[in-house]
Amino acid sequence: MRMFDGDKLVLASHNKGKLREIGALLAPFGVEVVSAGDLGFDEPEETEDTFVGNARIKAHYAAKKSGLPALSDDSGIMVDALDGAPGVYTADWAETPNGRDFPMAMKKVWDLLEAKKAPIPRTARFCCTLCLAWPDGHDEVFEGKVEGHLEWPMRGDLGFGFDPIFVPAGKTQTFAEMDPAKKHAMSHRAVAFAKFVKGPFAGRV
Ligand code: IMP
Repeated sequence: MRMFDGDKLVLASHNKGKLREIGALLAPFGVEVVSAGDLGFDEPEETEDTFVGNARIKAHYAAKKSGLPALSDDSGIMVDALDGAPGVYTADWAETPNGRDFPMAMKKVWDLLEAKKAPIPRTARFCCTLCLAWPDGHDEVFEGKVEGHLEWPMRGDLGFGFDPIFVPAGKTQTFAEMDPAKKHAMSHRAVAFAKFVKGPFAGRV
């Protein structure tokens, strides 16, 4: 495992929700964090069909362009009754000619479940792969997931993406109803991040 021994890290994402959550998770470590958007980078095409493949594309692209270590996040929601869809295509399901529309994407998922008369609870999991890549081409990968189920209608206006319909196992609130600190303590991103902290960041705090 290669250690992170620098003092500056690029967050290889343009997604405001992810930037906010990863920024909060990184805050205690005293690392200067700059996003790929702040550096004026465009977004590479996510051409792989796995979370790890796309996480690698994003992290290596930002590391090569910036000359700094770069941390990416590829994530999505997998719905059991839809054979794991939308999965790596979660963001794509929200695309419209005028930008991403997540309420529309959540309704699409729920309508498909209704059409299939999928049994309740409609189990699903959020998955997250974090990739830390260095400009020389080395990388380290960390994965996390959180099990739960989907509920309709959407509830809550915190969080982002599919949070308003996801209820983690053993809880009654959706991720979008939870205080962000509560989500950060159990989310797929937090699980992957805990592995990252025990790896390249070990001994930093
Ligand atoms: P990508 O990793 O950029 O391909 O996009 C992943 C998509 O998955 C996001 O745009 C969100 O819709 C969804 N997603 C990932 N993590 C979360 C989360 O923590 N809450 C809600 N939606 C998420």
